[in-house]
Amino acid sequence: MEKVVIIGSGCAGLTAALYAARANLQPLVLTGTQPGGLLTTTTIVENYPGFPDGIGGYELIELMQKQAERFGARVKFGTLEAADLSKRPLVLTVDGGPLETETVIIASGASHRHLGLESETKLENKGVTYCATCDGALPVFHNQPLVVVGGGDSACEEALYLTRFGSAVHLVHRRATLRASKIMADRALSNPKIKPVWDSIVTEILDVNQDKVTGVRVKNVKTNAESTLDCAGVFIAIGHAPNTGLFKGQIDMDEAGYIVLKKGSATSVSGVFVAGDCADRVYRQAITAAGMGCAAAIDAERYLAGLGR
Ligand code: NAP
Repeated sequence: MEKVVIIGSGCAGLTAALYAARANLQPLVLTGTQPGGLLTTTTIVENYPGFPDGIGGYELIELMQKQAERFGARVKFGTLEAADLSKRPLVLTVDGGPLETETVIIASGASHRHLGLESETKLENKGVTYCATCDGALPVFHNQPLVVVGGGDSACEEALYLTRFGSAVHLVHRRATLRASKIMADRALSNPKIKPVWDSIVTEILDVNQDKVTGVRVKNVKTNAESTLDCAGVFIAIGHAPNTGLFKGQIDMDEAGYIVLKKGSATSVSGVFVAGDCADRVYRQAITAAGMGCAAAIDAERYLAGLGR
């Protein structure tokens, strides 16, 4: 039987693994279908402390994994298929087989919502991105027109951040009012560099043939009129979905599916702790996820110590 199983191998999971390993708990990390998590989809990470020249997202995760493994963490390519959190020990189903464990740290992350366009997939990391704080400062976007898609707080925040780099930021939203909080909406709409494009959806990202973003095709949903906006980057900020579906009904979540923290990193189920984007709808940064992972490992260690393990 395992003492600690960590579900997810992003910043939160690997930091939890590092701390649990250093507590001699030999944690088992299940990578999930996206080993390394969302950070591995980012080209360069410039806001993780300790790397003044930035570091590739993939490289950062690789280093975190090495560091955790050095102290005895085991990282296994495996996908969680089911979890029975009502039993003691807790029972997980991983790649068809049962896995018993005394504690679980859920660090399964969240996924960016996608527009669902073929051109979006083809141009991901070639001008299409889901994180302005990660990618906005890239030289390719400097003094270029940029597009942000969405109308919530994330879209406003991304657009405001991008005004530091782009020559103009077109905020394409499918309605004529922003969903964002008033303060964020006011800030965005009063910024002269942000140009709202109301009642509009992006129907295609250009130009797949050139293998880079040169613009977007936009359709006004009221008039059906189509137009093209030139831009060097498309930042899609239409929300996130936490990867928590497998735990639904077994653990307290909010209405959007984010796992609710009870005390520290503890959840509503004893022995189950949580870290990172699957429990964070506000910050969603690599460094905050890592901090939560650290907290979850410490809480799991103390829980096990309380059981005399
Ligand atoms: P959100 O509030 O769910 O907003 C998503 C936006 O994307 C909405 O405007 C929605 O349009 C639009 N959208 C959804 N699917 C779309 C699609 N397929 N095509 C085009 N547009 C689409 O998500 P969020 O902005 O990521 O915010 C999530 C939570 O984090 C919120 O509670 C927010 O307050 C919080 N947050 C806070 C801050 C802050 O305070 N600084 C920053 C970021 C996030 P509709 O409006 O038409 O539904």
